[in-house]
Amino acid sequence: MLLEVDNINVHYGKIAALKGMSIQVGEGEIVSLIGANGAGKTTTLKTISGLRPLTSGRILFNGQDISKTPGHKRVLLGIGQSPEGRGVFPGMTVQENLLMGAYTRKDDLTADLDEVYELFPRLNERRTQFGGTMSGGEQQMIAIGRALMTKPKVLLLDEPSMGLAPMLIAQIFDIIREINKRGTTVLLVEQNAQQALKLSDRAYVLETGQVVKSARGVDLLDDPQVRAAYLGGD
Ligand code: ATP
Repeated sequence: MLLEVDNINVHYGKIAALKGMSIQVGEGEIVSLIGANGAGKTTTLKTISGLRPLTSGRILFNGQDISKTPGHKRVLLGIGQSPEGRGVFPGMTVQENLLMGAYTRKDDLTADLDEVYELFPRLNERRTQFGGTMSGGEQQMIAIGRALMTKPKVLLLDEPSMGLAPMLIAQIFDIIREINKRGTTVLLVEQNAQQALKLSDRAYVLETGQVVKSARGVDLLDDPQVRAAYLGGD
């Protein structure tokens, strides 16, 4: 397994956000986390990237225990995150924003920048536009592109379709598929469960900080309980 989250507990003060949560992500997979608001999806990603500390349990990356490894070192190991809410630097150009993703790298970035521009032609057209003046969907592209500039082995995506028009949502999901095809493992958090499950090899359903179900994405699409709770049921 590339990434193993093993029985973790995470707290905000006294509140337990994750309670014995375990997931596994294999190399080359797209894995989704779905669940209601407050189920702990964002907290799971933040804990994997090192933004939240564990109370107990372990996180293994490539078999190595990274539970206590600081976030910036996890980036170097190959864990890249595109955060919820995007965090684009408004006063920097599109290109400067992308380069911020790679500020720790000393090697030539041209090929990686070119790849991001190939995936996101819109960003290529707007290299010199300020991040803050880009549309919501375009800022989402910047955030994903910036995470890709760290050359992640696993890309953690938090709500990439949030706030986007339906056409752009379809585009973002196509791009995620393409990023995966090119060799990056993806762990995806999505409210848009239908699209996420279609795209995913496997998925986990979270409820109040625990995994209550896991299966292949396509199988969860047909699961009556999942349909009723997360897919607007029929
Ligand atoms: P959503 O889909 O609404 O983004 P989520 O599944 O991503 O939800 P989390 O954001 O991980 O859920 O939150 C899990 C729990 O932890 C919730 O009960 C939430 O209120 C709580 N929580 C999250 N962040 C904080 C914080 N900074 N301080 C206190 N409690 C928090």
